[in-house]
Amino acid sequence: MDGYGPFAEDLPLATPAEAAAETWDAVIVGAGPGGSAAAIELTRRGRKVILIDREDFPRDKSCGDGITRSGISQLKRLGILPALTDQQEVEGVRVHMRNRGHRDFRYEGEDDYGLVVPRLILDDCLLRQARAEGAAFLPKCRADDLVTDESGTVTGVTARMQDGTTVVLTGYMVIAADGAASRLAKAAGLRETPEQGYGTALRGYVDGCGDTPPLLEIMLPLTDVTDRYLLPSYGWAFPTGKGTANVGVGLFCRAFDANVRTLFDQFLDVLRKDYPEYSGIQLSGTTLGAPLRFDFAPERAAHSGLLLVGDAAGLISPFTGEGISFALESGALAAQTTDRCLRTGAGPWVAADDYALLLGDRFAGYFTLGNRASRRYEFIWRVLDDTFESEKPVHNMLRRAVLVPEGTGGDVESAMLDDVSPLVRVPEMPLGDDLRDVGARLNHIVRTDWPFLTRMFFAGKRADMVAFRPSLLLLLTSYLGDVEAKRRRAAATALELAYLGFLAQSGIRGIEAAAATADATANWGDKLGILTGDYLLAKAHEVGARDCPDLVPSILSAMASACEGRVSELRTAWQPDMAVEKRIAQMRQCMAAFFRLPCELGAMLAEQNDLSGALRDYGENLGLAYLLNEDELALDRPPGSTPFASDLSSGLFSVPVLEAAQRQTGGAAVRAFLSHRDPARFLAELSPATRHIKRRKLPEEYRDQAIAALSPLPRGGVAKSLSALAGYAVSRQVPKRRVL
Ligand SMILES: Cc1cc2nc3c(=O)[nH]c(=O)nc-3n(C[C@H](O)[C@H](O)[C@H](O)COP(=O)(O)OP(=O)(O)OC[C@H]3O[C@@H](n4cnc5c(N)ncnc54)[C@H](O)[C@@H]3O)c2cc1C
Repeated sequence: MDGYGPFAEDLPLATPAEAAAETWDAVIVGAGPGGSAAAIELTRRGRKVILIDREDFPRDKSCGDGITRSGISQLKRLGILPALTDQQEVEGVRVHMRNRGHRDFRYEGEDDYGLVVPRLILDDCLLRQARAEGAAFLPKCRADDLVTDESGTVTGVTARMQDGTTVVLTGYMVIAADGAASRLAKAAGLRETPEQGYGTALRGYVDGCGDTPPLLEIMLPLTDVTDRYLLPSYGWAFPTGKGTANVGVGLFCRAFDANVRTLFDQFLDVLRKDYPEYSGIQLSGTTLGAPLRFDFAPERAAHSGLLLVGDAAGLISPFTGEGISFALESGALAAQTTDRCLRTGAGPWVAADDYALLLGDRFAGYFTLGNRASRRYEFIWRVLDDTFESEKPVHNMLRRAVLVPEGTGGDVESAMLDDVSPLVRVPEMPLGDDLRDVGARLNHIVRTDWPFLTRMFFAGKRADMVAFRPSLLLLLTSYLGDVEAKRRRAAATALELAYLGFLAQSGIRGIEAAAATADATANWGDKLGILTGDYLLAKAHEVGARDCPDLVPSILSAMASACEGRVSELRTAWQPDMAVEKRIAQMRQCMAAFFRLPCELGAMLAEQNDLSGALRDYGENLGLAYLLNEDELALDRPPGSTPFASDLSSGLFSVPVLEAAQRQTGGAAVRAFLSHRDPARFLAELSPATRHIKRRKLPEEYRDQAIAALSPLPRGGVAKSLSALAGYAVSRQVPKRRVL
């Protein structure tokens, strides 16, 4: 296959005789993404590796060809990206809900993108890279069975060449990357054909597409032949460039009475009928189907001398059907484990235990939750369906969490550090290490217990929010005393969890829904919001109870106060004549609690009771300065899915809007808003009045009060940093110089 990649054409293939004569460090069965990734990682570590596949390459493989950004980072590490520069880039995911329009979930980072690469090309590139790095390759060689020693440890495989000759390959480790139907997993007793965690998908290529967006398009929901019943399934159309696309359907349940080929034909009809850009599509080439296996369980991923990788281990996302990135990552983990055990002289059973633990830590939560929650695919569909029109930030986060969950390996801690480093100056204190540790704890908690929530932490990545994360304020103020690292880090983690829990629950919209219709049914987005909030609060309690139990009551009472504040806000919603002072008092009780609390807790930790009052004042005024300034800034932004717009659509007027509404003569805009409840229109009509009141006076007053409250603090890094944060709350000017 020519035309892509800087790969040599003339690398020699292994011969069966050579392959059998050698004792390999690893015998890798299957040269898909999982097998080739393992081979690359092992050869880079100087290991002797043979890769076999029953097919010759390049070979096709049934797949949607979509690679999300976590797959991209794996490919980057493997050195494959330069070979893929001609392939179709995508900017994120577009979800269509039939008859209800679409929503885009774009990758947010600067270098974030995805790719659509036909597997004919991708798998060949990966294999070529493995061979270029030194892996031997034996094509047209089908592994038939495992070879074991008297203790039951796997020591190799028996395989059959296409001409019928057999060959025995032996090595320290067998890595089975032989796909969803894994013969070797079955031979080891690691896989019965499951009823749960098993689906089917079918894809074809089409040409004749019109102007399609550079996005992975997912079409929901699909219905049965009668067009009456929703199926646990989805359709996709992924652009492959020049008016072509990979289109297909996935059915997330085996027992379900639906035929995937009929579903595929129906889906093509829907595409042609409902989507103008696909109205002229024609199938080109053959359609290919294959199983989707998402029944991963760590205890079934390894056996002494045998590690399962990718689809063989059931590692396909039960949420999205994505499997390439899991195959690449598990391949790399299998290679690292094998290499480490060879280096330390550990037996292959140790490698099996280590690998199962590693995979469990990395994926078990995601798959357990995914399989439970997305059973019959109703969960995602219901959350999407119930929140599709909602602009609530919490719903946006939850939609992203269930749909684009691939950020589970995210690097939250370093993002946080990068964003705050120019503002805080405590060179004598290990703020960088502390923040990194808190980030790692948060990551670990959500990754193992409830991984898709990692996305919620990413939501706090925006620089101007990160600077006011409670953990930062708590750590800074705790530096006023000599606090044990473990204690302050646990307190910061617990507080961060409680804060996110509060955010999740305070954003729900059940109250409005219930008010709007007498028979309102519970909303799935709200249910998930409440569940998420409860989970986070329980975790906050657990983390705090272990290392800083004395602080837990304060956290809980601040939460209670914040909740009361929220209830008071909701009770007085839709009142444009409310007194500004009252609104500020509500803000003080509700959100400002999360600025006040960390400062107070920091003082408690540092045993600086004398400074507690000052820090409390500082925190509360800082919170008000920040929140009021946010509201003023929001007036200049289009009301998208910002907390501001969502508050407004819930009838909670910010102070600037309240002032403008009261100032506006005749009250036409307010009346229009109260009848249409349309934030964009309301803001447009109010804009002359809001221009008048935008003076930044109030935020500046609170900023000054915050800074004044710092006067009893000893001079030094802590006071300087807190003062800089207060200035930043209003000016949003970040010094250029980094100090951490
Ligand atoms: C229709 C469909 C659409 C999909 N769409 C996407 C998508 O858009 N994005 C995404 O990320 N994932 C998608 N997936 C999932 C993805 O295809 C798999 O998760 C991925 O291919 C797993 O890689 P792997 O290396 O584990 O296995 P595979 O890619 O299946 O590779 C296994 C290899 O082992 C070889 N083999 C099998 N048995 C033997 C044997 N006994 N001896 C020797 N060799 C053997 C095979 O020839 C093959 O080359 C889709 C799956 C399907 C079915």
